[in-house]
Amino acid sequence: MARSTRTILADTLAGQRLGFDDAVALLSSPELASIGHAADTVTRRLHPEPWRTYNIDRNINYTNVCTAVCDFCAFYRPPKHAEGYVLERAELYAKIEETVALGGDQILMQGGLHPTLTLEWYEELLRDLKERFPQVNIHGFSPPEIYHFTKVSKRPLKEVLERLAAAGLGSLPGGGGEILVDRVRAAMTRGKVMTDDWLEVHRVWHQLGGRSTATMMYGHIETLAERVEHLERLRQLQDETGGFTAFICWSFQPDNTEMDHIPPPVLLNTSAPRRWPGCISITFRASNRAG
Ligand code: SF4
Repeated sequence: MARSTRTILADTLAGQRLGFDDAVALLSSPELASIGHAADTVTRRLHPEPWRTYNIDRNINYTNVCTAVCDFCAFYRPPKHAEGYVLERAELYAKIEETVALGGDQILMQGGLHPTLTLEWYEELLRDLKERFPQVNIHGFSPPEIYHFTKVSKRPLKEVLERLAAAGLGSLPGGGGEILVDRVRAAMTRGKVMTDDWLEVHRVWHQLGGRSTATMMYGHIETLAERVEHLERLRQLQDETGGFTAFICWSFQPDNTEMDHIPPPVLLNTSAPRRWPGCISITFRASNRAG
């Protein structure tokens, strides 16, 4: 039998690690104010300092050409599509210059899974950008892209990450996480990294000393238990490496996608757990290198 919200929160406030069934129960609970208050209490206990950190950065999508097919994505264009693009270097420079002029010190650079851009192309890009903008952290290339690079280059994951880091990659974003459950991923994506390999990209990056962020896109075909499974997989990796610096979740936006029959989700139920103590403690002490 599911335990009450009050009991779960009392145990959590007493320092107990949140279990799977209790997390599902909290996601179903209407007692949002109590959950939010408990989450805030533990956050302040873990981080009593009276300040929080943030980055000023800019998202730059260097290409929309993608070999994968994701039913929830309104951004990509398949190879050879008339609307496909790869940003010219001058456009990239201009976007970064604008970011720096506004006080930004980071770019989030992600794109589709381009079929022909080589690992050497990415290395050259990173070297060029770091030479021109040494003060700007390049938070770049989500796990689906990194995994794709290993396939295109036919090089092992560790080597790909080492080479990108040597060329100037500063930190890894957590894009392409969606829901880290293969049932969900297989139902709405084709040709894209699955759960274990998504996590492995972060694991190896962390083992190399890198830092990264984690994400979740919720409110589509996943169950509440699958949301919790996603959080649990991230928590396990965080226990193992401690390499995540932030967790970002957002709700599915159905407009202009193959999944536009799904209504937009309710927001608050799932936004709270990123502050749940013991659920996933990765919203702490944000690195100055990753957003
Ligand atoms: S891999 Fe990324 S860019 Fe490509 S279709 Fe999926 S979400 Fe869109």
